[in-house]
Amino acid sequence: MKIEYKYPPNIEEIKKVFDIQPGTVFTYGDTLYTPFGGELTQDLLAHEMTHTKQQKVIGVEKWWKQYLEDDDFRLYQESEAYQVQYGKMKEIYNSKHRKFRLKEIAGHLSGKMYGHLVTYEEAILIIKENIMPNQDGTGPKGEGPKTGQGNGDCE
Ligand SMILES: [Zn+2]
Repeated sequence: MKIEYKYPPNIEEIKKVFDIQPGTVFTYGDTLYTPFGGELTQDLLAHEMTHTKQQKVIGVEKWWKQYLEDDDFRLYQESEAYQVQYGKMKEIYNSKHRKFRLKEIAGHLSGKMYGHLVTYEEAILIIKENIMPNQDGTGPKGEGPKTGQGNGDCE
């Protein structure tokens, strides 16, 4: 995975949907864009590499378009990425740090950044128990993206 310390090529499209928070990183194809230059932990890299794989399956432009337009798609893609991330966390962190980090990423997955797609409790279930959200659109919905502040999340 290549790393670039700048915004991804589709940043204008992203900005139309999300309020970009400091610390946010973006994956576009096999490149990780980190305009804010924060720490890239192994579990975060595992998360972003999952997006690279997802983007390969349907094509990076198509993936991003659907990701920005479709709440269910975004939730599904992020759920998979956070599950992979948690798997990596189990390898590299002790239980205390893993618990701390789980709370953090569950806060992200359920947060404003993605448009409050799920509750915090649902995010824990998704990430920890590998329970995938509903695929038929009946899952919980928020008021959509473009709200307030998260605290540095990953796309
Ligand atoms: Zn992600």
